[in-house]
Amino acid sequence: MKSTLIQADIYQAIKYIAERLYQRNLLAAADGNISYRMDNGYIAITASGIAKVAIQPDELAIIKLNGEVISGNPSSEKLMHCAVYQKCPTARWVIHAHPPTAIAWTVAKPELSELPGNCISELILAAGKIPIVPYARPGTAAMGENLIPFLPTYRILLLARHGALAWGENWQEALNGMERLEHAAQILLHAEKLGGITDLPSEEIAILQEMRIKIGNKTI
Ligand SMILES: [Zn+2]
Repeated sequence: MKSTLIQADIYQAIKYIAERLYQRNLLAAADGNISYRMDNGYIAITASGIAKVAIQPDELAIIKLNGEVISGNPSSEKLMHCAVYQKCPTARWVIHAHPPTAIAWTVAKPELSELPGNCISELILAAGKIPIVPYARPGTAAMGENLIPFLPTYRILLLARHGALAWGENWQEALNGMERLEHAAQILLHAEKLGGITDLPSEEIAILQEMRIKIGNKTI
């Protein structure tokens, strides 16, 4: 029988991630969820309806890759986590949060298909392109299905009129992704207020993209 015990260090990592997300205003109330792919293939995920910042060890649910619940009470947003783990064999951690500035870009500019990232060298190098996933009604299968075309290529996904999702091979990578997304969205917002976003020269963008290929498809 597969063990469904959650290691203490995994719980501590989830608690630390939740604290960081709250400190950086990336979550409100009981928003968001954090999950981890266990060695046995099951997924440990934060339970529905609880403030993640004060999470207790017994507030983690266990689900199968197909979303079937083994124990606990995960939210319907588990479908997004399952889509990532199904499509990305190297994904070990998934963080879903509601970064306010990043979401605001999708609300104010629904015509965008990606965050305008060709103006910041660091974003091109450390994260690459950040696509905007079409809106999905909460609680529907579209929440997971809409992610599929973007996986496993992208590790940071902005979800239109909802939030964002970042995955990684370790929890640091997933957390870096979420923090980088909101930070970049804030820089872009300030640039818009100061007169408008200007892209780097196309030759420079091409060089940075080459450098990104050497770094590899990961968030740093
Ligand atoms: Zn959400």
